[in-house]
Amino acid sequence: MQRRQIIKGFATSSLLLGAGGISMPLWASGNSRADVIVIGAGLAGLTSARYLKAQGLKVLLLEARERVGGRILTLNSTGMDVEAGGLQIGQGYGLMRTYAQQLGLPLVSLGRYAEQNAFVINGQRISAEEWPTHPQNLLATSEKNTLPSRLYYQMLSKGPEYALPWDWTSEKYAPLDISLDAYFSQQNISTQALRLMDANINALSLKDLSAADAFYRLSLARIGGRGAQKIEGGNSRFTQALGDELTGELHTEKVVTHINQSHDKVAVRCEDGSQYIAKRCIVTSPFSALKEVSIQGDISPQKRQAIDKALYTPVTQVHFAVKKQVDASMLEATNLWTDNALGRVFSQLNDAGQLCYLTSWINGQQAKALDMLSPSEAVNTVKRALEKYYPDLKGKTDVVHHQSWANERFSKGAYIQFAPGQVQTLVPHMASIEGRLHFAGEHTEFMYSGMESAIVSGVRAAQEVAERL
Ligand SMILES: Cc1cc2nc3c(=O)[nH]c(=O)nc-3n(C[C@H](O)[C@H](O)[C@H](O)COP(=O)(O)OP(=O)(O)OC[C@H]3O[C@@H](n4cnc5c(N)ncnc54)[C@H](O)[C@@H]3O)c2cc1C
Repeated sequence: MQRRQIIKGFATSSLLLGAGGISMPLWASGNSRADVIVIGAGLAGLTSARYLKAQGLKVLLLEARERVGGRILTLNSTGMDVEAGGLQIGQGYGLMRTYAQQLGLPLVSLGRYAEQNAFVINGQRISAEEWPTHPQNLLATSEKNTLPSRLYYQMLSKGPEYALPWDWTSEKYAPLDISLDAYFSQQNISTQALRLMDANINALSLKDLSAADAFYRLSLARIGGRGAQKIEGGNSRFTQALGDELTGELHTEKVVTHINQSHDKVAVRCEDGSQYIAKRCIVTSPFSALKEVSIQGDISPQKRQAIDKALYTPVTQVHFAVKKQVDASMLEATNLWTDNALGRVFSQLNDAGQLCYLTSWINGQQAKALDMLSPSEAVNTVKRALEKYYPDLKGKTDVVHHQSWANERFSKGAYIQFAPGQVQTLVPHMASIEGRLHFAGEHTEFMYSGMESAIVSGVRAAQEVAERL
């Protein structure tokens, strides 16, 4: 009888685990047991862990990388602090600003970034003044005076405005859940304008972005206000300071490969074989990375679909330090907007007004194409393009960093974007609680954008957990 019960118990648990499921490490104790496991030590995970620790709960914070911060990454190798990830802290970022104050981290202005004031279109360098009448300006007559860098926002701003940004998923706006390409085509926007907008769109492409998502982002930007800032010394100081408060809870280089929830616990297994058990788990990995993780136990088909189908925008950057002085006034124009693999070039000047740093920032399809090359080929492609359009810089720059967010295993993209149809089908399920699994991260919170949404989501998920423990 006893033996039959044991066998029955095994059968039930293997059914619960499903094929390939992990066994519950019943031996787990001490450091591998907690009230809550938080997966990912980016802004969302750090915030959740901080909140739950303050509630007196035992927290395990598992981070795949050897560093905290996720998509916050300040580069310091040149003595300047340059952001390769999350940059602008908007005036409306109330929670992030409050935390910065608590952590004793002052905010400063973003530095000297100017608008793109010269263009490369079909291989020809064109100044802003030349653009309206330039032979390469093949825009429709009504569009001709609009600079290539402003076309996207100009065209979007003619569209509908949500009464409230968070209305974007309501049925009223379902007709907007079509590709931005299709939406713009209905507005009789010229094919040349479509091509130029696609060249540097902050998404995979016009075809892959829902118009409902594009209008939502615009509404958020409108209420976000101007006057963005960053943390003095770099935004990584913010995530580092949060991490420093969590030394007992934080475990880096813990790549979660399996999450298994049963009726009374969640078991998590890492690539190095370590296993952890908790009553609840907050998952903050971007869905692009989470889809590589095996999630066993009850989880709704809608959530699985959201994890599998969520799209992330590719962003690739090449960073150049200027090693021999070039006076900015020697260059025809310091900031360049191109329709090729160079993307947009942002130049930074030092206090003496000299050019000291350039970032080539490439989005969408151009980034996707570069990401298919080896890192050295990608860097050389961008460097060749830089020297072609800034001949004064030949031999005067060093490549100091190459960042492909889409090729980073634990990011697989820069930020969430919703494809046509996904605003209606995926958005409502991004943050849903699945049994003992809670979800946080920029992809789960839509009242704010970027870093603030990650932080707000971290608090929200921590509150969900605290209420249930
Ligand atoms: C180029 C770029 C520019 C940006 N600019 C801005 C801006 O100007 N303003 C703004 O507000 N926002 C901006 N953002 C967005 C902002 O940086 C992000 O929204 C925010 O940092 C996301 O935080 P998160 O905690 O949701 O995700 P992440 O920072 O991605 O954190 C998730 C964590 O989970 C970890 N992880 C993933 N998989 C696993 C696994 N299997 N096991 C364990 N851990 C795992 C990751 O390593 C990571 O640390 C930008 C982002 C990029 C990339």
